[in-house]
Amino acid sequence: MTAARLLETIRELGGRIAIVGDSLRIGPRCAVAELESEFRDHADELATLIGREHVEAVAWRAKIMAEQIPPDGPIPVLAAREGAWLAGHGVCTSCGDRFEVESGGSFGRTLRCRACREAAEAAIRWAR
Ligand SMILES: [Zn+2]
Repeated sequence: MTAARLLETIRELGGRIAIVGDSLRIGPRCAVAELESEFRDHADELATLIGREHVEAVAWRAKIMAEQIPPDGPIPVLAAREGAWLAGHGVCTSCGDRFEVESGGSFGRTLRCRACREAAEAAIRWAR
């Protein structure tokens, strides 16, 4: 199995994957247990794929958010997708995507996904 196919399979099985600090986190274990040896064989490639996806995820969000920033005055709450905050519990209030695995036990208090947090910072840096 290629790393790209493995990534698709993880997601098809309801698994989630993210880079947390320096390590690749995959879960929940019940969804992806049968793939453990594949993870070990493809860990570096999976990390590269996930890293590339993250860069792309931040880039499109930052582009949309930068357009929401006026040249001066107060900066509004930046959102990647209109109406995402209505999507409900367990999803990002900015983009509406389900949260990936987060570090530091902040899951319950986090309103925005990591990509949206980084995108908002980048958008403000660009626009101001
Ligand atoms: Zn988000």
